[in-house]
Amino acid sequence: MKRFFLTVTATIAIITLVNAQKKANQDSLEKVAAKTELWEPVPTVVSTKNPFVDAPSDAIVLMSGKDLNSWHKESDKKAAGWKVDKEGITTIVKGSGNIESNQAFGSCQLHIEWREPAVIAGSSQTRGNSGIFFMGRYELQVLDSYNNPTYVNGQAGSIYKQFIPLVNASKKPGEWQTYDIVFTAPEFYADGRLQTPAYITVLMNGVLVQNHVEIKGNTDWYKTPKYYAHKEKEPLVLQDHGMDGGNPLSYRNIWIREL
Ligand code: MG
Repeated sequence: MKRFFLTVTATIAIITLVNAQKKANQDSLEKVAAKTELWEPVPTVVSTKNPFVDAPSDAIVLMSGKDLNSWHKESDKKAAGWKVDKEGITTIVKGSGNIESNQAFGSCQLHIEWREPAVIAGSSQTRGNSGIFFMGRYELQVLDSYNNPTYVNGQAGSIYKQFIPLVNASKKPGEWQTYDIVFTAPEFYADGRLQTPAYITVLMNGVLVQNHVEIKGNTDWYKTPKYYAHKEKEPLVLQDHGMDGGNPLSYRNIWIREL
């Protein structure tokens, strides 16, 4: 019996140590990540009325509101866990993971609509955080940036940790918003070296927020961006940030034109 209790005590001690180590690792990563946060200049607020656009005749519709048949879960390639309601709105199910398009894309024009929850939960990076990862790697940030101070290279319209948006064109929580994006895929030499970088132009709610900026490499929250060779076409990924204050955001009307 004594041996049993000693084993239990030792197991608890090991679990406590492992958890303490995990917490220490997370804390030290957060300190490293803070070094790449920029808090100024704060983009000027700009408003617009009606930026919504239907899919052009030659577009591939990725989210029409019927189902998630064009998507799957990124991590294990199983069925996407997000929910589509009767109104054709797709909402993130917290913790269900990122979703990835079945089809792979290179250079493209993308239209996407999203809505931050009307009831605000969380603040800064935990308020309605998602993201559009071109080629599964290069993130255009999705965040509720309406009166929500955060580091400006991480607010809505930013190329996360790379480029601050030119202005803050965010609509109020609960209102639908749009991104219209022109993305140019990077090219690599056969030996894996970068030949030409990726470029991105972004209109947010009809307002230019990124003007043909040169993407610096893979999006990373705590490391310097760097290019890693990949295929000419890769799937599009939508982020389940997973650490939000509680209310996940919604998407609808996503279409893409290959360039
Ligand atoms: Mg994000």
